[in-house]
Amino acid sequence: SYATVGVALDAAAERFGEREAYVGPDGRISFAAWAAAADALAGALAARGIGPGDVVALMLPSSIDYAICYAAAARLGAVTTGLNTRLGSREVTGILDRCRPALVIVDRDAGLPAVPAGLPVLARSELAALRRHPGLGRDRPAVAPADPVVIIWTSGTTGLPKGAWFDHRNLAAAVASAGVMSRPFDRRLVATPFAHAGYMAKIVDQLAWGTTMVISPVPWSAAGMADILRDERITVAGAVPTQWAKLLELPDAERTVRAVATLRLGLAATAPAAPELVERVVTRLGVPLVVRYAMTESPSICGTEPDDPPDVQFRTVGRPQTGIEIALRDDAGRDVATGEVGRVWVRGDTVMRGYWNDADQTAAVLRGDGWLISGDFGALDADGNLRLRGRASDLYIRGGYNVYPLEVENVLAEHPRVRRAAVIGAPAPVIGEIGVAFVEPADPASPPDLAELRAWVRGRLADYKAPDRLEVVEALPLTSMLKVDTAALRTLAAG
Ligand code: ATP
Ligand code: MG
Repeated sequence: SYATVGVALDAAAERFGEREAYVGPDGRISFAAWAAAADALAGALAARGIGPGDVVALMLPSSIDYAICYAAAARLGAVTTGLNTRLGSREVTGILDRCRPALVIVDRDAGLPAVPAGLPVLARSELAALRRHPGLGRDRPAVAPADPVVIIWTSGTTGLPKGAWFDHRNLAAAVASAGVMSRPFDRRLVATPFAHAGYMAKIVDQLAWGTTMVISPVPWSAAGMADILRDERITVAGAVPTQWAKLLELPDAERTVRAVATLRLGLAATAPAAPELVERVVTRLGVPLVVRYAMTESPSICGTEPDDPPDVQFRTVGRPQTGIEIALRDDAGRDVATGEVGRVWVRGDTVMRGYWNDADQTAAVLRGDGWLISGDFGALDADGNLRLRGRASDLYIRGGYNVYPLEVENVLAEHPRVRRAAVIGAPAPVIGEIGVAFVEPADPASPPDLAELRAWVRGRLADYKAPDRLEVVEALPLTSMLKVDTAALRTLAAG
């Protein structure tokens, strides 16, 4: 049993000892050394007065130091929160205001915004000395499975980041829900920041399976990803769809195919993966790519499996993970029929306990009966596979008809002259809203024109879904999580 992170850490140190736990920009460390370093740091932090329930904020790049701080805080019954190193000062101030950390551990060389005055700060450069502390010894605080362990901030795609908090039980539940992702002794490439749920919510899963986490070099590049896949003999690689797309666009395809040869599984998550993209990763690179649908508020929801039929593997986000239930409901909370579009509701052991210090926002999405009401639309097929239709906030209504931009984007992405596309609704007289398509051309020398894209969409979808306006862009604007920045697109469309 992995009742708490501390228990899981002790078990992993015992079982996996000298096996590599991390490969990162700051070296390599075994499970035994990680656990020992965490224990020493926990002792040093306890000596500074950090204890159960205190929030410890990590303003550190993904690193071994990060993993040690996280495990040390969990050992103390403290609550870790990570700040994506690409956040700006307004976001950092907002987050720190909301969680009031007892300590901020900060890498002063990482180019982060300043920590607001008055907060206790520990510099990353001081950690090495603290790791020589004799540790907690027999003074380990009692930590209960229902105690908070981590606050994970949402990506801030639709507004300011929200702080989802989890207890130790939530993290233990990730072991069961990981499914095909987890086998003993994988070497897993982590290409999203550690502050993201993709790492923070999965630490117990790593401890249970003895997974070696390989931290992707910063700044990320497709060539760098290919190198590390090959050099570190990666078996499972998680990346956002944009990263897979860029890997496919590398000039020397044969070299890329050789680089991915040790992969047993690729994982695309965090943003819509166009069917065309999934298909190309599978057929051109030979990587069994599975898609995962999750959100910070429930870091496991649905996933495909490598042996799913192509239509399922390429076009859906699969079925609920172990321990998760989903339902598609209308605005009144009634189940919609199979095939009909509804809002995705999620219930299960990985669902957050709430938004930290925010009862109102929590009440708006998390019901007393355990259902989490997401901001996403989807439809279930007869086999129970979920087909996402995009975010509620992206839906637009053109002359009385609902348009789900994701559906149009996927059709546009199949056009030979289109590399990537994003569609938003923009206010328009009479008709209410019109569709504006932003397109990255496959070949900048011969971009598509509006007439041909409209004809392409009309040949495949209802005519009102064809975009009314086309903006050819060199590159779609992306957020710090490499999701398409729809707020930036709205500004562009208005300007
Ligand atoms: P915020 O909630 O702060 O606006 P965010 O929703 O982007 O930001 P995350 O929790 O990181 O923050 O992202 C979860 C969302 O990402 C999901 O609700 C969904 O909209 C989208 N998403 C995740 N995985 C997939 C996927 N496989 N396909 C399509 N969309 C996905
Ligand atoms: Mg969200």
